[in-house]
Amino acid sequence: MLESWGRYPKSKPSKVHNFWWLTDGLPHTNYPLLPHGQGRSYGDVCLNSGGTLVSTRLLNRFINFNKDTGVLRCEAGTTVADILKFSVPLGWFIPVTPGTKFVSIGGAIANDVHGKNHHIEGTIGRHILQFELLRSSGERLICSPSSNVELFKATIGGLGLTGLITWADIALRPVKGPYIQEESIKFQNLSEFFEISRSTDSKVEYTVAWLDCVASGANLGRGIFMRGDHSQRPAKRGDYYRESKLSVPFDLPNWALNNLSVSAFNFLYFNKQQTKVLNHTTHYEPFFYPLDAVRGWNKIYGKQGFLQFQCVVPFGNGSGEKAIQEILKAIVADGSASFLAVLKEFGDIPSPGMLSFPRAGITLCLDFAFRGERTMKLFKNLHSIVFANGGAIYPAKDACMTPEEFRMSFPAISDFTQHIDPAFSSEFWRRVGGGSL
Ligand SMILES: Cc1cc2nc3c(=O)[nH]c(=O)nc-3n(C[C@H](O)[C@H](O)[C@H](O)COP(=O)(O)OP(=O)(O)OC[C@H]3O[C@@H](n4cnc5c(N)ncnc54)[C@H](O)[C@@H]3O)c2cc1C
Repeated sequence: MLESWGRYPKSKPSKVHNFWWLTDGLPHTNYPLLPHGQGRSYGDVCLNSGGTLVSTRLLNRFINFNKDTGVLRCEAGTTVADILKFSVPLGWFIPVTPGTKFVSIGGAIANDVHGKNHHIEGTIGRHILQFELLRSSGERLICSPSSNVELFKATIGGLGLTGLITWADIALRPVKGPYIQEESIKFQNLSEFFEISRSTDSKVEYTVAWLDCVASGANLGRGIFMRGDHSQRPAKRGDYYRESKLSVPFDLPNWALNNLSVSAFNFLYFNKQQTKVLNHTTHYEPFFYPLDAVRGWNKIYGKQGFLQFQCVVPFGNGSGEKAIQEILKAIVADGSASFLAVLKEFGDIPSPGMLSFPRAGITLCLDFAFRGERTMKLFKNLHSIVFANGGAIYPAKDACMTPEEFRMSFPAISDFTQHIDPAFSSEFWRRVGGGSL
């Protein structure tokens, strides 16, 4: 069964169709269709109960690379990991990367993913020069900022609903080697986070903070701020790519991740850095992909799976900061713990994507084991804080926003719906009332 990363909700497509070659056509039965990349979305954007998932796992070849300009043409199922393995030894890096390298380029475009450099580079959609879109009519359209422009904008962040991206041209960026010059700074509370974030030179390319979301009272919002730039240091003895050697072989029982174990992890993680500031050179793998070090880490939440909450709230003269504080207080009051809690300020660089999620403001991201009604109640509460402050929820991580919340998150929805392929749909789209928008 193809699952999403959060393993919630459970879903069964009636068919999985492997798309092998660029010249393949789309199936004509078992509608609706939905493209499926690596299933690294958490909720249900990559699920299609009762319909056909068109998997791009085998559509993963490089087509062309210009080593002078760094423009790579690859099939849509090619992963960020495939690209880095090939491009870093040649002095090129992906311009925007999410927190895992196991995502396909098609999936990254369809969610218009963002990374630690959003304030400088915006989303991946800004670095996609063109792609081919296969529609259920059999048409193959080249979409770019100058050709089929509206379809280009609808497909970036288009949640797989406008057709199947078969290949894409992506502009890589030059690097001297695989290392990052990183500085980690411990902060004791949210105000200190905002001070560091705002005083960080806007030229520092990558910024993000880990939060100890179990800490309360005077320590509410304490954490570690990480910032870094590509280092000028060349690779030592072919140290371009690191494979993860650890994996979680089976589902852990439900009780394994509880408040106690998460609190202990958070305490140790916060205190492992002895000094306030730590400077060091690190490989890009632990810097961008710490979670990829353990394959199948989603099994630690057990069979019932987990939900991720990711919101953005606009700065709004300090109201954004207050909203983040309110959200953290609600989590502490609920007694729910998350070992993964990430805080970052997004920049205001616009994306070409109509339904792109990132926008100027503060984004907060947390994982919670799925515990039925209790988790749904917590999410309802967190969503109400987000929407009372003019914020939005990220579809790539979502399994429970309401149709109304979806419309509030994406004001361009009525422009977008005109570009949907009539044979395409998803579990997410049906849940947020897509058919009636
Ligand atoms: C550990 C972890 C960290 C993450 N960190 C971040 C982060 O920092 N920033 C961020 O933005 N996201 C992040 N994500 C989310 C992830 O980057 C996105 O969900 C991404 O879209 C997943 O890509 P995928 O190949 O797995 O696509 P899937 O999850 O399989 O599909 C995602 C969407 O893309 C569509 N799609 C897939 N292939 C195609 C195609 N060829 N043509 C058209 N549509 C297609 C699907 O229909 C679906 O709607 C993270 C996920 C994990 C597991």
